[in-house]
Amino acid sequence: MFIGHFGLALAAKKASPKTSLGTLMLAAGFVDVLWPLFLLLGWERVRVDPGNTVVTALDFQHYPFSHSLLMSFVWAAAFAAVYFGVRRYPRGAVVVGLLVLSHWVLDYLTHRPDLPLLPAGGPVVGLGLWNHLAATLIIEGAIFFTGIWVYLRATQPRDGIGRWGFASLMVLLVVIYLANIFGPPPPGAQAIAVVGMCSLLLFAWPYWVDRHRVVEVR
Ligand SMILES: [Zn+2]
Repeated sequence: MFIGHFGLALAAKKASPKTSLGTLMLAAGFVDVLWPLFLLLGWERVRVDPGNTVVTALDFQHYPFSHSLLMSFVWAAAFAAVYFGVRRYPRGAVVVGLLVLSHWVLDYLTHRPDLPLLPAGGPVVGLGLWNHLAATLIIEGAIFFTGIWVYLRATQPRDGIGRWGFASLMVLLVVIYLANIFGPPPPGAQAIAVVGMCSLLLFAWPYWVDRHRVVEVR
């Protein structure tokens, strides 16, 4: 899942208004941030295999450190602890921890059975929504647009950056998402890892935009 993760991050602004959208998005996508790093280190493996599922050409061969259920709890606890250490905002710490964990749940829904429960050995699971293109677009799109709706009700733009910076970020996410699904498959594992590392820079955008919006008190 891609924009679905960010849909939950957007909606989480309502639950944790003092947390930046940048941090919420980073939490929801955190294990996908670790993943390209672990690919480059050789700890995890991916293979390009067009048709692996209808939606993705990626064969997630081995990714137990970033994507197993058990490690997701570890990353969630670590993310929440660091967040609490820096911000001293208990509510925010709980929300970002849950967002890190939610990543596994949404990936469980979408991936074919390739998601490990444990970092070593144990079964691999996945409900395989990615075998169904229309259902993927509808469900993931619904989560994403619900998230936008909740975020827009929870915050108000302070200026043009808050309004148009936010809108263009959302458009960009949709474009990346559709390009991933309908564009040509990536040339190889190395390219996936490098592009993944570069896309880290994108997280600066929601931090910037969020500072130009105020939380709406209702
Ligand atoms: Zn993932």
